Amino acid sequence: MLSVVVPMYDEEQVVELFVERLRPVLDAGGEPYEVVVVDDGSRDTTPVLLERYRREWPELRVVRLRANAGHQAALSAGLSRARGDWVVTMDADLQDPPELVPDMVAAARRTGSDVVYAARADRSTDTSFKRHTAALYYGLMRRLAGARVPSNAGDFRMMSRATVDAVNALPEHNRVLRLAVPALAFPSTTVTYERAERAAGRTKYSLTRMVRLSLDSVTGFSVLPLRVATWLGFLGILVSLVLIAYALISWLAGVVTPGWTSTFATVVGVGALQLFCLGLLGEYVGRMYLAMQGRPAYFVAYDSAERGDDAESEDVPASLSG
Ligand code: UDP
Ligand code: MG
Repeated sequence: MLSVVVPMYDEEQVVELFVERLRPVLDAGGEPYEVVVVDDGSRDTTPVLLERYRREWPELRVVRLRANAGHQAALSAGLSRARGDWVVTMDADLQDPPELVPDMVAAARRTGSDVVYAARADRSTDTSFKRHTAALYYGLMRRLAGARVPSNAGDFRMMSRATVDAVNALPEHNRVLRLAVPALAFPSTTVTYERAERAAGRTKYSLTRMVRLSLDSVTGFSVLPLRVATWLGFLGILVSLVLIAYALISWLAGVVTPGWTSTFATVVGVGALQLFCLGLLGEYVGRMYLAMQGRPAYFVAYDSAERGDDAESEDVPASLSG
């Protein structure tokens, strides 16, 4: 069975367009499917419309969140509820073309991959602001989460049951799926598509939300920011040594007011030392944070003593730490 997970937040203007385009594609597939729409606490008529469509489309399933939880959280909710052997996640605004779903299924069958990313061929339909911030974001994420992060692949992807189970088992809150899934390092392949403009309505991603996503991405996948204090501490100690030497020389030359040398040396030295200790603390906090995240170190694909699995290799992703 195929599950299609779609988060919707205040999407009354696209619900109809979306249903009209997705349903024929899935019906034509000839295989059993379900569409799991996660209504992310919409305040408009989205839930009413969904209820109406559900009456005539038995494969449509609606999961309503009590309050707006955000795109990534809504996706997580959908993933934990989806029952399919394969799960596609896509946006409701038809920027992710439903027609690509059969291609993704075919690509997975052909290559035996666990994950099929849909990467956009180009970003010509985006504003230049979005293009630049996106380039920055993906560049940074590759640095932090490793080169496995496919660029220009948002949250339009298909995952096998094994992948979905692994994602569901991740203990972290605020998981950023477009990083968490590549970090699993399951066998994957990519299909490209032309990203359309939003079918109707406005984007639900304000600048604040984009910043929050970036912060979640950075802090969720790296303890690098904590290490900044260590580097600054090292630098501070070097600089303070130079300054203290300068103060001592001035004192020897007798060109300073009495008391200045000792005060100056203390301020400079203690400041650097404090920064360094803060960095040291950060190192331990960082290690505790990684341990607390409790990401599994490996996923077993196959064990000859057990039966019923298909793959033959054992996947041990490299360390996920920054
Ligand atoms: N979305 C959601 N909860 C939110 C914000 C967005 O479920 O708090 C959904 C939205 O309905 C859409 C998808 O996430 O299906 C992507 O949002 P949008 O198209 O506004 O983002 P953009 O494509 O502009 O980055
Ligand atoms: Mg969109």
